[in-house]
Amino acid sequence: MNIDSLFPDETTGELLARASSHYTPSYRQQPIFLTRGEGVWVWDRNGNRYLDMVAGIAVNSLGHAHPRLVQAIREQSEKIIHCSSLYHNEPALALMDRLTDVSFADRVFFGNSGAEANEAALKLARRYQKTVARQPDKTDFLSFNNSFHGRTYATVTATGQPKYHEGFEPMMPGFRYADFGDLASVERAFEQAEGRIGAVLVEPIQCEGGLFLPPKGFLPALRKLCTRHGALLIFDEVQTGIGRTGEWFAYEIEAVTPDIMTLAKGLGGGVPIGAMLCSDEVAFGFGPATHASTFGGNPLATRAALEVMRTIADDGLLDHAFEVGEYLGQGLQALVDKHPGKCVETRGVGLLRGLELVADERNLGATIVPECRDQGLLTNAIAGKVLRFVPPLIVEKGHVDAALEILDRVIAEA
Ligand code: PLP
Repeated sequence: MNIDSLFPDETTGELLARASSHYTPSYRQQPIFLTRGEGVWVWDRNGNRYLDMVAGIAVNSLGHAHPRLVQAIREQSEKIIHCSSLYHNEPALALMDRLTDVSFADRVFFGNSGAEANEAALKLARRYQKTVARQPDKTDFLSFNNSFHGRTYATVTATGQPKYHEGFEPMMPGFRYADFGDLASVERAFEQAEGRIGAVLVEPIQCEGGLFLPPKGFLPALRKLCTRHGALLIFDEVQTGIGRTGEWFAYEIEAVTPDIMTLAKGLGGGVPIGAMLCSDEVAFGFGPATHASTFGGNPLATRAALEVMRTIADDGLLDHAFEVGEYLGQGLQALVDKHPGKCVETRGVGLLRGLELVADERNLGATIVPECRDQGLLTNAIAGKVLRFVPPLIVEKGHVDAALEILDRVIAEA
């Protein structure tokens, strides 16, 4: 029995059975309870240790139990955790300062998740077109096939993957879709919309859809098209932002400036927070009491995010993420070369990497993920067949070697 547990007298099997009886059946969870972590390592309640290449889905940017983050959260919780947006708080202001310092943005709205940040962006874009740009007919949104933007009604409608819409129809009106990376398809959508597109929402790198980078030049061309048509350009950097690619934001890679950007995941290092950033002009689509969030910008979450950003800057984690990411990319390429019957290719940048597996009746993703876990490596499969590697930004080359060794063995046996 596990004495450092809320359930010291129950076996893991018993807890799993209770979970499966009483949670809504929304997830296919792996059958382990994670109880603690340190750096890139996590432990389950049975004492097994895992190398964490998932990082809570690109969230634990400083790894687990980072001393600076722990101390910041502890100190802040002793001062004030929540006060609502009826009042100002200093951590939110300091975080806003940081975010506007390192990005194109002049203004920030805080929420609690990626979907909420995207909701805020879509609402702001529509209201900006009506009240500031005085283009009231520009009510439509254009997003991309194979994208992922969240699970609220607007964001799941923007998500260009029918499997996420199934059973939830009717979806929200006013959404159109083009093909990611295909400028002609975007031009066609603008033509068909006859001036009604008010904003284009795009992930600069498609993440959940299977890790696809756009062809070089696509994002700059999209920027030009949006400007020509009077549409706002919204970058969903929920997964790509805050150092994941080796830059603060993926928009820097091709120097394309959006009008609005959304963040979440890595920003709080594990403490839930989302943010929508925009230019001064666009921000005035909102006025007092037009959009709000009870928990948004609370001092605990913003203090945590501030410490994440300070640590990334102080410890040179952007360059580090790029360098270790290149090393990881080379290692994954070596696996592709070594196992051509099982691996197709590797894609990604920085510490945002995917390994596409051959899709056939072997269902390799569903076999390799649990086998890696049993051998002490956490990874996950997106789009059914792409193993995703989004480790903490503090990961070292030695950890990458250890992960690749397990992966090599598991792929060989799969
Ligand atoms: N946008 C992107 C690009 C994402 O990858 C995700 C989550 O995976 C979201 C939005 C939704 O974020 P959340 O789950 O925090 O609502």
